[in-house]
Amino acid sequence: MAKRVGIMGGTFDPPHLAHLRISEEAREAFRLECALFIPAADPPHKQGRPITPYHHRYRMTELAIAGNDAFSISDMEKRREGPSYSLLTIQELAAPGDKELYFITGMDSINELHTWYHPKELLSLCHFIGTTRPGDPVDQSALQRDFGALAKNIDFLEVPGLEISSTDIRERVRRGRSIRYLVPQAVERYIREEGLYT
Ligand code: ATP
Ligand code: MG
Repeated sequence: MAKRVGIMGGTFDPPHLAHLRISEEAREAFRLECALFIPAADPPHKQGRPITPYHHRYRMTELAIAGNDAFSISDMEKRREGPSYSLLTIQELAAPGDKELYFITGMDSINELHTWYHPKELLSLCHFIGTTRPGDPVDQSALQRDFGALAKNIDFLEVPGLEISSTDIRERVRRGRSIRYLVPQAVERYIREEGLYT
């Protein structure tokens, strides 16, 4: 049987407990051998706001996954030029053809998938797992309309909804509020030591 690999893409500005939890839920539910965290170097959907330099986001993600043998990190989107299109990443990972790829996301990402770079091609190369995200209900009819038969490659996974976002965490830091128990302790420490988001 082909090895099942989870792909956890994100901006991770910063990585938080919901990123870890949905990856763990997906790993267990879909019997994934591992989950590969891939910080986006130049996220196509976040052109509007300043993003924390890649090396900080990479380091925080590394700290966040430490201690979980099934989780690893790749800098492949940094090694590539131009916007970090998931299609190019998945094409690169799918090339050896010996594994089944499962792109792990929250439902907000599934609902926006039609705006991604060549989403149909992407859907033909990997499965998507859309996990529960509070405030982002699934719109099945839109998925049918946008992707037709390829919509079957989107799986839904009910997980305990965690209302955590990087946006909210950045805002809390900016206001001098606590982010304890929203991010791993090592990430909290890194944000403090590096003076991020102030
Ligand atoms: P931002 O607020 O900056 O957009 P974020 O919290 O949405 O940050 P991202 O790095 O944008 O985090 O998200 C990476 C992936 O993790 C996306 O697929 C997103 O849907 C998913 N995700 C993030 N937070 C949650 C959450 N609380 N529940 C479910 N999925 C989530
Ligand atoms: Mg987001």
